[in-house]
Amino acid sequence: MPDYTPTIGLEIHVELNTKTKMFCDSPNNPEEKHPNTNVCPVCLGHPGTLPTINKEAVKSVIRVGMALGGEINPETKFDRKNYFYPDLPKGYQISQYDKPLVLGGSLNGVTLRRIHLEEDTGRLLHDPKTNTSLVDFNRAGVPLMELVTEPDIKSAEEAVDFAKELQLILRYLSVSTADMEKGQMRVEVNISLGKWVKGVWKQGTKVEIKNLNSFGAVAGSIEYEIKRQAEVMKTGKVHQETRGWDDIKKVTVSQRSKEEAQDYRYFPEPDLPPFETAILNLEELKMSIPELPAAKRDRFRKEFNLEESKVRVLISDQKLSDFFEDAASELKALNPNSKIVTLFNYLTSDLIGLINETNISFSEIKISPEELAHLVSLIDQGKIMSRGAKDILRKMFETGEDPEGILNAEGLHAVSDESELEKVVKDIIKENPAAVADYKKGKTASLQFMIGKAMNKLRGKGNPGILKDIFERNLT
Ligand code: ADP
Ligand code: MG
Repeated sequence: MPDYTPTIGLEIHVELNTKTKMFCDSPNNPEEKHPNTNVCPVCLGHPGTLPTINKEAVKSVIRVGMALGGEINPETKFDRKNYFYPDLPKGYQISQYDKPLVLGGSLNGVTLRRIHLEEDTGRLLHDPKTNTSLVDFNRAGVPLMELVTEPDIKSAEEAVDFAKELQLILRYLSVSTADMEKGQMRVEVNISLGKWVKGVWKQGTKVEIKNLNSFGAVAGSIEYEIKRQAEVMKTGKVHQETRGWDDIKKVTVSQRSKEEAQDYRYFPEPDLPPFETAILNLEELKMSIPELPAAKRDRFRKEFNLEESKVRVLISDQKLSDFFEDAASELKALNPNSKIVTLFNYLTSDLIGLINETNISFSEIKISPEELAHLVSLIDQGKIMSRGAKDILRKMFETGEDPEGILNAEGLHAVSDESELEKVVKDIIKENPAAVADYKKGKTASLQFMIGKAMNKLRGKGNPGILKDIFERNLT
């Protein structure tokens, strides 16, 4: 098997979450279910109508460019990209050709070529039963950001990491929900293989894979193309084309030969003036960039001394990481020696578990960071055992009551009182002669068994450390 090296570049389209469309004031609502509701003569391409630029969309793209370290083009303009397709009402798409809003930048070590702004198309709905196609223009004219990378990526894993990090940054910037399954973020992969032949680097032809709408599809299509192109290159040349991804068969399929820029007959949009980006108070836009995921990860690693995988879980959601941070600072105030890991576990497994049982979102929960910290501090102080803590958390989640109140009302206090525990231990020893005999023969598992029995009797409220001591004392 010859040693091929993959070369991969990405083109990523992102629907921006502005209130209105890119060139008119029709609502931009991706949740609209009724077809052709959010339309007007402008986005339907009626003759005689004129576009106006949505400033919010321009600002969003500039903020993304700033977050990714790109240069904001001092002068920018829109261009017409001409092609015919039934979901494109004007017969052309307003896009940006030679003066994109953003030049350069980088993410995850991948150099960015450009970021520009254009408009989305409508959507065709095919009904194979009646052999008809219907068109819905609700999406036509929705602001679409396109980011193009240099071909710096070398593997499926790097491509997915890049796309995930970009998605997270878009969410931190609140410019898009960037949900791939909903088509709000769509990835196109460009991929070619290359190898050294007698000291000369031979670069194969690149293939484009369009409309990938999950991270799995991005990874799967790259893995598949690496194998397919290597196979083709054994005996011939890779054909330059656009392919699609069959998510069921897990293969890429040929769609059409790739078009060249000249096919689109780009020319400057005559209905929109070129403009200088300085008219947009760039200083203010810069100030509006929040702490971004990479910086926040660094800070969390240092401040909380958590392992990498845990930091990643927290930072994967801006609200979750903010909640954690607030709770951690409260916990520190309550008890400087408390364990941050306990807080992490109660937040990311127990509380998230409760949220997942219901249909509410994280921002709707009734528990405040301070109350969660309070619960963790009660655990750390040995006032409640884990089973009791879980019951209290559920109650907090359902009612919004504070942990101390629930603890008192339900009598879930941990039992650490020696004489009370000793009574239970003596009962268990009496009731389980076989286990006692086993333990005396050296079977340590029997001790765990008896502690479990005692815990049951105490309804989970016994302090396991103290119980163990008392058993050992009573069994010698
Ligand atoms: P085209 O002119 O064919 O559209 P571009 O050079 O504009 O190609 O690049 C489009 C995308 O293809 C970019 O994301 C770029 O990184 C990627 N790309 C360019 N050359 C290669 C290559 N040899 N192999 C894989 N991807 C490439
Ligand atoms: Mg485009």
